[in-house]
Amino acid sequence: MLLRFSPYLREHRALLAGSTLALVLATLVKLLEPWPLKYIIDRVVPGMLDTPGYASQNGFVSLTSGELLALCSVAVVVIVALKAAFEYLATVGFALIGNRVLTEIRRDLFDHLQRLSLAFHTRVRTGDLTMRLISDVGMLKETAVTAALPLAVSLLMLVGMVTIMLVLNWQLAMLALLPLPLLWLSTQHIGKKIQTISRKQRKREGDMASIAAESLAGIRTIQAFSLEERVAEGFQGKNSKSLKEGVKAKKLAAAMERSVDLLLAMGLAIVLWFGTLQILAGRLTPGDLLVFITYLKNTFRPVRNYAKFSSRLAKATAAGERVIELLDEEPGVRHAASAERAPQFSGRVQFDHVSFRYRDNDPFVLDGFSLSVDPGMRVAITGPSGVGKSTFISLVLRFYDPEQGRVLLDGVDIRDLELTSLRKQIALVPQEILLFNTTVRDNIALGAEGEVTGEQIEAAARLANAHDFIMAMPNGYDTVVSERGTSLSAGQRQRIGIARASLRDCPILLLDEPTVGLDRTSEAVVIDAIERITAGRTSFLITHDLALASRCERILCLSHDGIPEDGEHQELMREDGLYASLWAAADCSEHKQGKMHVVAR
Ligand code: ADP
Repeated sequence: MLLRFSPYLREHRALLAGSTLALVLATLVKLLEPWPLKYIIDRVVPGMLDTPGYASQNGFVSLTSGELLALCSVAVVVIVALKAAFEYLATVGFALIGNRVLTEIRRDLFDHLQRLSLAFHTRVRTGDLTMRLISDVGMLKETAVTAALPLAVSLLMLVGMVTIMLVLNWQLAMLALLPLPLLWLSTQHIGKKIQTISRKQRKREGDMASIAAESLAGIRTIQAFSLEERVAEGFQGKNSKSLKEGVKAKKLAAAMERSVDLLLAMGLAIVLWFGTLQILAGRLTPGDLLVFITYLKNTFRPVRNYAKFSSRLAKATAAGERVIELLDEEPGVRHAASAERAPQFSGRVQFDHVSFRYRDNDPFVLDGFSLSVDPGMRVAITGPSGVGKSTFISLVLRFYDPEQGRVLLDGVDIRDLELTSLRKQIALVPQEILLFNTTVRDNIALGAEGEVTGEQIEAAARLANAHDFIMAMPNGYDTVVSERGTSLSAGQRQRIGIARASLRDCPILLLDEPTVGLDRTSEAVVIDAIERITAGRTSFLITHDLALASRCERILCLSHDGIPEDGEHQELMREDGLYASLWAAADCSEHKQGKMHVVAR
């Protein structure tokens, strides 16, 4: 994981080097900690016992015992002060690095998520993605600072102390380290188990986030169908499983810590036993034994820490894997390195023998489909559900690439165009208009490239027949619409969507069922707006409303057999094919009465 994230670390080289230096210094100073006491026991106390009084000699340096005692006491404070200063620097430095790096990772992850293809986004669940972005990165961040750093310190200590112990008395050192391999094996074994459980737990929590996100998004349907209990059951099931896993991981971690304590006590017992024998044999001083025991306790700290932090580290590893998995996801649709910025197009759209399907073994949605539309032409796309009308729009926007054939704008294959510059040429009015939780003004302005003036926004709103209802709202254009636009009616949302699209001054316009679900009055207003906004633009209008379709200069009636009918209303009626049969099957009574509303059944 470190390897994968190392490019991020590289940017903070200076800080990393400084913090590591502080850490090494802190460790070195910490190694000195037991030495003042050792000198007091080995030199000062025997010296004073021999010749009572502070002036006694200790056979060590040219200091009296009193002076050495004072020096040792001062050294205790100096050592702790230095250690504190270096540790402070190291902690702050590493915390800064950890936080900065993970903030960058989160930024990149979010950018990456936004760029991933629609194929990816339809496959995965939003809740899980949000969880990876917020919670998994958060967990990495926290662990990097609170667990990884202490572990790094401990490891450094381990190396230093083992070296000094070996120098002091290598036999005793070897004995003291006897339990170490045992410790390593047991922590590795349990650590792996904890990691497996944590991985499962993270995945389950991702599922829970997805269920929560989906059920909250669909709360209207859930309440309307009284599905609350069923949804809650699904959630609760995962929730309690996650609890069980959490408990299991905690139990394992606790057991690991205790077994480490036990092994540590064994090591200590061995050292006390043989150390005392060595003192009695005159090969070791009591002070040396003291240093030994202090080091031994510290030596086992890394292993102990590993036990203590193992569940947190395991969770972080699982979280890190989930983040990396997402970062490694390839954006399916990408422009080639040689792709060029799209110039201002006139709006000729061509499909050249396009074949497309969503998955490899599915039947083709479009199979060898060809079409050429002149600039400024209004094309209605109609036909039964599931024939590929929305797919057609997705291909123009290059949400997906065709398996065979080409989609061309003004004669240029859209794969040779830079993606954003291609999409700048196109305005989409989707079926479900997404409104953001901000003012009406800002919601309309979203469609524009760059800055727009209040007048431009108002003109767009007028064009879309939205000005009047906006002015009737409490704060006019400054009214804040609530999340998912629930404070606006379907017709009003549609008109905001149209105003947004009209502000985007571009040659191609895509409208996906703009009149579906509207009452007659709103529908008339929306159709009026559509007529105005489509003027002079190559427009593709997906609709089941045959009357609306018949108003377009060209109608494309897609069918399941893959052969579209293509022409203007009269022509298609004369052809007496699918389009004519849709008309015949439609409820035409109202049409005969002169009303323009005919819907294919
Ligand atoms: P229409 O808009 O005409 O109702 P669509 O273009 O939405 O039809 O869908 C055409 C076909 O492709 C349908 O059979 C549908 O099930 C399938 N389809 C649409 N979107 C996806 C998708 N994201 N993954 C797999 N199949 C899809």
